[in-house]
Amino acid sequence: MKTIKIGSCLLVLLASAVLSISAQTPKQIVIAAGTVLDGKGGVLHNTRIVVEGSKIVRIDPNAAPVNYDLRGLTVLPGWIDSHVHLTWSFGPDGKNAGAGGTTPYATYAAAANAWATLMAGFTTVQSVGSPNDLPLRDAIARGALPGPRILSSAEPLIGSGEQSGTPDEIRAFVRKQKEAGADLIKIFAAGSVRRPQMLLSQEQLNAACDEAKKLGLRTLVHAYKDAVRAATLAGCTEIEHGPLATDDDLKLMVQKGVWLDPQAGLVMENYLLNKDKFVGTPGFPEEAFQVIKEIIPSYHDFLKQALKVPGLKIVFGSDALAGSHGRNAEEFIDRVRDCGVDPMAAMVSANSLAAEALRMSDQIGSIAPGLEADVIALDGDPLKDITAVRRVVFVMKGGVVYSNKKAQKTL
Ligand SMILES: [Zn+2]
Repeated sequence: MKTIKIGSCLLVLLASAVLSISAQTPKQIVIAAGTVLDGKGGVLHNTRIVVEGSKIVRIDPNAAPVNYDLRGLTVLPGWIDSHVHLTWSFGPDGKNAGAGGTTPYATYAAAANAWATLMAGFTTVQSVGSPNDLPLRDAIARGALPGPRILSSAEPLIGSGEQSGTPDEIRAFVRKQKEAGADLIKIFAAGSVRRPQMLLSQEQLNAACDEAKKLGLRTLVHAYKDAVRAATLAGCTEIEHGPLATDDDLKLMVQKGVWLDPQAGLVMENYLLNKDKFVGTPGFPEEAFQVIKEIIPSYHDFLKQALKVPGLKIVFGSDALAGSHGRNAEEFIDRVRDCGVDPMAAMVSANSLAAEALRMSDQIGSIAPGLEADVIALDGDPLKDITAVRRVVFVMKGGVVYSNKKAQKTL
């Protein structure tokens, strides 16, 4: 009797061990693709992407059975947007409510922005400038909400001359953001393209970017004109915007390995498109809209200028905010149509190049074994018609399919 009892216990143990092993063994998912842009500028034809768990495990034209047939579409790695503001929304009155809202309405709006961004094919974003990004980042990371992978900066360092603090105070501020959970540091070093004066001294910028570097954090610096050179000399990682920088400033960026994230139109077009929602809210007086209209060509000219600088690393960043979440890809169209960016370069700027800027090349940005299975598909070929970026019909992030509008499931 005793022996039988032990035997049945063993059986139960064995059975549960088998069950747990099969539960842990990731199911294989095979995606068939006719055309794959690999994220690094290469094109693969008639192949299959094999996914296990959250990762791509191999590229194998003979893998079977096929779970998702994406032939007839253009398959590429999920895009990376280096500059968004997911918590920036319109309020219940329809008016611009900024990025700092903490009401239930603002919170749900931020979650909806994250969903819209993911559905638009963006599987990773840097959402910079509001501490409200952090709980959203964490909720998505634990799988509680659908959305892109988020990197965030917690509280930004907003330059205000002497009032920004001594170099030691600035260093303490940077350490505080790291403690709060920042993945990077966002710095406002200049005003706007109309008022481009520096808001931080060279000494203050040196302190901010040096302290971040010591902590292993990257620095994203909102800069125009002289602030571009100052941030470059300070050893900061990436310049946001950048107009009014000289060719020499841009060449110095190349020498120092500083990244550039310019904008070619979406952010300004969005202000004009949603003028009734922005006008009269802080920072958007009526007269601002004429100015916005007038400065769009200067942003185009700046990107054209930057494209001529050999070796300058230009990443994709839309500066998506209220009204443009989920329309991030319009920035690709602006860059290609209005600034002459090569369509393949535009794709790479939101894939492997952006991953490199994020220091995440070993995780995202390419279709390759060992990387996260972030895979999207477009109905159309963006190399022939850049407006295909508007037609994202399949989204997989970390091996989970969030959208499959057109692909045939052939289980
Ligand atoms: Zn921004």
